[in-house]
Amino acid sequence: MFAQAATAGLNSIGCDVIDVGLVATPTVQLAVEHHRAAGGIILTASHNPIEWNALKFVGPDGIFLDSVAGTRVRDLAAGEPLPRASYNAIGGVEPDSDAISRHLAAVLALRGVAVRAIRRRRFRVALDTVRGAGGALMPELLERLGCRVTAINLETDGLFPRPPEPVPENLKALGALVRRKKADIGIAVDPDVDRLAIVDEKGRAIGEDYTLAFAIRAVRPSGRQTVVCNLSTSLVVEDAAKEFGATVVRAPVGEAHVARKIIELRAVIGGEGNGGVMYPALHVGRDAPVAAALVLSLLARERTTVSELVARAPRYTIVKAKVPRGARLEQVYEALRQRFGDATVDRQDGLRLSWPDRWLHVRPSGTEPIIRLIAEAPTSADAERLIEEGRRLCAAS
Ligand code: MG
Repeated sequence: MFAQAATAGLNSIGCDVIDVGLVATPTVQLAVEHHRAAGGIILTASHNPIEWNALKFVGPDGIFLDSVAGTRVRDLAAGEPLPRASYNAIGGVEPDSDAISRHLAAVLALRGVAVRAIRRRRFRVALDTVRGAGGALMPELLERLGCRVTAINLETDGLFPRPPEPVPENLKALGALVRRKKADIGIAVDPDVDRLAIVDEKGRAIGEDYTLAFAIRAVRPSGRQTVVCNLSTSLVVEDAAKEFGATVVRAPVGEAHVARKIIELRAVIGGEGNGGVMYPALHVGRDAPVAAALVLSLLARERTTVSELVARAPRYTIVKAKVPRGARLEQVYEALRQRFGDATVDRQDGLRLSWPDRWLHVRPSGTEPIIRLIAEAPTSADAERLIEEGRRLCAAS
């Protein structure tokens, strides 16, 4: 219904619509570039429950609209109706059934994707696509990589059998599948397939931050190259980039911010700690098929297991909290800066205080009247201490 309404609206002002059907969000972004379209519209709730279905807008560059362009779209929607095309100038609709196969072919041709090495390993992969769009392309991708796939929730009907975000507490069934089938890895994607989370060969969800960390290690950036992540991304990502001497630059939270920074700095790879990998060798959008291919490449090349890859690097704990938002945010930031005088300060998005092995990020939510506190440290006690101090100073200001 939404798709037909959006199509009819576009036709009525003279736009032609290319209908790519039920596909992943990154597939649409690539289709915009392929067709040199004026833009793209994706009907999805992303990682949220189905009642949050809405429109995601893509610009002519295949990247999500930034806040300036987004505001213009909202103003257009709220303003005077646009002039309708006359009967002989309304737009048409054309199906494109090749969008998925173009996407998969492009992933398999990417530098850094070790197709032959992956095929040789004949990985046993457990897959959970949560009855979202992933069922339309993830099994085919894995099979073309020579994997032996065993899957749950491949139906693409949007009837999510569990909360659809691929966070560890939602991946218990996938963990059990990994153990039952003795899989080498478990892969979960969110309903619109721009985020990917990993379950190790013992059935444990390792946390979404490792997806980008592994993808960076697969790409092996040189010492002259830059990696971009957001201010709330785990240090496991920074550690992965530093292993190769690459520079890590952090952008404000939000896919569009990370995307713009990747382009500005010509970064080799980037993304978010929520399992969103952006590899500009293909495009600057979070792409779970790209993430899957890179993670499997790393596993194949290193001839090792997921749990060993995790064990090799330092571990951290992330703790999150939220407090009611008062009016005086700047006072909160100032109090925190004074309390932690030895920290490196980043003011791009709220306040981020960092030390070599820990950080505290304090930022107002964009959607609720709360302040979010996120801390990461080598132990949960250390992270809790940072959160408590932040909480105390938020309450005092
Ligand atoms: Mg998503």
